[in-house]
Amino acid sequence: MSKFIFITGGVVSSLGKGITAASLAMLLKRRGYRVAMQKLDPYLNVDPGTMSPYQHGELYVTDDGAETDLDLGHYERFAGITCTRASNYTSGRIYSNVIARERAGGYLGGTVQVIPHVTDEIKAAIRSAAAPDVDIVMTEIGGTAGDIESLPFLEAARQFKHEAGEGNAVFLHLTLLPYIRAAGELKTKPSQQSVGILRNIGIFPDILVCRTEVPMTEEHGKKLALFCNVPRDRVIEERDVRHSIYEVPPELAAQQLDVKVLRLLELPERELDLTDWNRIVEAAVHPRRSCRIGLVGKYTSCRDAYKSVFEALSHAGIARRARVEVVSVEAEALEAGDVALDDLDGIVVPGGFGSRGVPGKIKAIEYARTRRVPLLGICLGMQCMAIEYARHVLDWEDADSAEWNPETRHAVIDLMPEQRGITAKGGTMRLGSFPCMLAPDSRVRALYGADEIAERHRHRYEFNNLFREEFSGGALHIAGTSPDGRLVEILEMADHPFFIGCQFHPEFKSQPASPHPLFAGLIEAALQYKDKEHSHHAETH
Ligand code: GLN
Repeated sequence: MSKFIFITGGVVSSLGKGITAASLAMLLKRRGYRVAMQKLDPYLNVDPGTMSPYQHGELYVTDDGAETDLDLGHYERFAGITCTRASNYTSGRIYSNVIARERAGGYLGGTVQVIPHVTDEIKAAIRSAAAPDVDIVMTEIGGTAGDIESLPFLEAARQFKHEAGEGNAVFLHLTLLPYIRAAGELKTKPSQQSVGILRNIGIFPDILVCRTEVPMTEEHGKKLALFCNVPRDRVIEERDVRHSIYEVPPELAAQQLDVKVLRLLELPERELDLTDWNRIVEAAVHPRRSCRIGLVGKYTSCRDAYKSVFEALSHAGIARRARVEVVSVEAEALEAGDVALDDLDGIVVPGGFGSRGVPGKIKAIEYARTRRVPLLGICLGMQCMAIEYARHVLDWEDADSAEWNPETRHAVIDLMPEQRGITAKGGTMRLGSFPCMLAPDSRVRALYGADEIAERHRHRYEFNNLFREEFSGGALHIAGTSPDGRLVEILEMADHPFFIGCQFHPEFKSQPASPHPLFAGLIEAALQYKDKEHSHHAETH
């Protein structure tokens, strides 16, 4: 039978609940347990698919095509867990199930209520993550204790633990110890109050994990234990890490967080080996070289909007023991001529929607193509590479994407017939993992070391097959297609150090111990570019 861990957060949002949950899952997995993870989000959108990245940060896509919260990316990266549609539930999804059942007559004669109907639906969602081959289900509850929206989730979790019984479920509460600089003091009161809120609704946290920027003293630990009603040894400090989020699991392991959880769940401790993980941390903390990668996007003011891209770049750096400094380049500022690209060793043009920022992205692509700077274009990035090439090399001035210019004669990017006429916005894109065949002599074939790959998609528009001839055998050419050959998945340029565009999102599958081949290739090319630039400068000065 599966056992359950619930993770709640208090005081403020953005405490890193996802990273804490992912770190704990990783430790438990390494102790030989099979862990499933889940995030429950209190908002009313059915999924985050229609939300702006400014609202929600990146949208993480799973293999099975669910559009989910970015915390699932941490689960996959830290713990190597494969998330699915069952890994992310929102209030919207729970309520729409309940309301659909009510319309179908499923509660005939009854009054449909938050308790028990909505809470039952939530408990069913939690249970859906359990399975014979899952030892531990970890459920992270979004939001902050005290929010109106998260109450049904907390109530469902309370009931769940009550029904599961002692030794089968654990509550872990992540909280903040604010440091008041002027007084030089670390404060425990907000944590006491947030545990008080949980107690009011019948939840008694078993473990307290405290985020803090300065070390906690023994006195703080005792105070928190006494007023939050947890044994002293279950008050864990999670101090801000200095260099890399991958430092978090070893820090938590050093305080035996995982062992304490296992004891509460009445499961044997088993052995933990972090040797390879510590090597990753060592490479991240003490790099020997560095390079600068420009990320030319339109959501650059919101770091979380490109979370997985940042992570994938850092994984590729770790493998080469290089620090990858990511420079956010606002596409519109580039368009206006307000920023330069000269000090970059490589460029990423990430995915996006709509025309805002596209001229800047095209400018960056032209720069990378003509100056031979390594470039990786992702999804909209690949589409812009096709447009740039069509305009500047094939001389089709009006080349564009039908997404924002449906009238153009050269819509090198267009809808496939099956996408035409779909007006609904939620969940209607090409979503999830699809196979792709790589051309035998291509650069990507060499990078992946495989003929067939599978990558995750999230887009409506595709390379337009009307223009395939012009993109075959020339400088920028097709290097990967769907197995039936209908969909163009990869464009690459011959005779360029690294100029690759992919219709999919490789960033979602990169992990710290196994960087994604395309990001690894980009960083390798960027390091070479940097060396060459340096020797060139040394010669000319
Ligand atoms: N807007 C483009 C499309 O829908 C690209 C999407 C993306 O970059 N994820 O096809």
